[in-house]
Amino acid sequence: MEKVELTQWIRKLISYHNIKAFYNNALWEHVRAEALDRDNNECQKCKSKGLYSKAQCVHHKQHVRKRPELALTLDNLISLCNSCHDEEHPEKFKNKPKSQLNEERW
Ligand SMILES: [Zn+2]
Ligand SMILES: [Zn+2]
Repeated sequence: MEKVELTQWIRKLISYHNIKAFYNNALWEHVRAEALDRDNNECQKCKSKGLYSKAQCVHHKQHVRKRPELALTLDNLISLCNSCHDEEHPEKFKNKPKSQLNEERW
């Protein structure tokens, strides 16, 4: 997919509240696997504190909502454990009705 196309597609998903479709896409699965591989399946935030945690998710440093064009850019991705990941998303716990909490698999 062309970058412009990709960005438009993601913007559309966001406006339809269907960003899930992005995370279910094979393109994402592929880049996600690459990021985990690059980070040795280790949480990079724990690692920077001298700790070891297995990575449980791949986070977008520049959130997809703000920078859809970086959604599949490896440099924009970082492997994190769930608790570090939650710290990166304080917005998940604020101002959101419960039903929307899992809208984004981040
Ligand atoms: Zn961690
Ligand atoms: Zn995230």
